[in-house]
Amino acid sequence: MERQTVCYYCARDVTESDSVPGVNDYESWEELSRYHAEDCEWIRTRAHRLPIHRFENAFESLGDPSPKQAESAREYARGFLPMFVEDSPGQYRIDALIGHTRIGSATELKWWDDLYDATENKQPYDWAPADWSGTISEDKLLDFLEKAVQQV
Ligand SMILES: [Zn+2]
Repeated sequence: MERQTVCYYCARDVTESDSVPGVNDYESWEELSRYHAEDCEWIRTRAHRLPIHRFENAFESLGDPSPKQAESAREYARGFLPMFVEDSPGQYRIDALIGHTRIGSATELKWWDDLYDATENKQPYDWAPADWSGTISEDKLLDFLEKAVQQV
């Protein structure tokens, strides 16, 4: 049964239905969204079955990983960890930028420099003495990665 009502979240006039589309029914949600405000919480959360806050990778230089949605920026940032080489349990190896080019905004380039600066046990590679790397703990790396996460 359908009846006219006002959306509790965005105050638009909408048609209320007894059935709510499934959370993965993208087409139905797309169709419904036409009748609600752009930022309507009910639409955004698919009737409160998705978290209110969603996160995105804001760093071009991290490539295109889209970790699965999480409850916090830090949990989301964990999805980036597999991009880094785990040298020993909980310790990740970060390369210096010497001789490398990276894409990204000035903020991102500084982020990579700061990340390398924050590493310990810096040493050159045996096979490429001009290239240095250092290690950083998972916790500290996550502190950095959180800065690449943007809440949307
Ligand atoms: Zn609405």
